[in-house]
Amino acid sequence: MSYAQTMPRFLCDAMLGSLARWLRFFGADCSYMGPEYPDSVLARVARSEGRWLLTRDNELAAAGPRSLYIRNQGVEAQLQEVFSRMDLRPEPTLACARCSHCNGELRDVPPDEAVPLVPPYVARTATRFRQCKSCERIYWPGTHSAGIIRRMENVITRLDSCRPGDRGAEATRGRSAI
Ligand SMILES: [Zn+2]
Repeated sequence: MSYAQTMPRFLCDAMLGSLARWLRFFGADCSYMGPEYPDSVLARVARSEGRWLLTRDNELAAAGPRSLYIRNQGVEAQLQEVFSRMDLRPEPTLACARCSHCNGELRDVPPDEAVPLVPPYVARTATRFRQCKSCERIYWPGTHSAGIIRRMENVITRLDSCRPGDRGAEATRGRSAI
C-alpha cells in the first residue's frame, strides 16, 4: 500500500497553521481554516470532506469521532504526535506533493514554462519544476531549504526511535540521516 493511500486527509484549526504547512511538506493533503471560521463550520467541513480535524481546542476535539486534540506546542513535536498517534510512517521521497502555502496539488511543468517565472539563478541551475495547480507557485529541487529538510529528517528519526515494538527501531537509532 502506498503512502498516498494510507496518509489521511487533515483539517487544521486556526491554532495550527504551522502544523498544516509542515504536514504539506510531508505530502499530506491538509486544509487550514483561520479564526474567522466558527467551530461548527470546521466540524462540518471536516466531516463532509472526510478529513481528520486537528485542533488545540478540547471541546472541538470532543465534538467528532475523527478529531485529534493536539497536546504539544512546537511544530516538530506536533508532527511526531500526529504521526505516532495515528500510526503513520511518513516517507520523505514522496514529500512535497502539495503546495505548502495553499495545499494545492503540484504538477510537473516543462522548463520553458517555468523559467520565466523563477529567479534567474534558479532558471540557470534547476532542470525540473513543479507548479501548484491552485496558486501557480513554482517549486524546484532546493525550494525547501536544508533547514526544512533537516527538521523533516529529525521528525522521522525520532518517530522511528520512539516506536515501541518496531524491530527496525534499534537499527535506526543513532543513525544521523534517513
Ligand atoms: Zn499553491
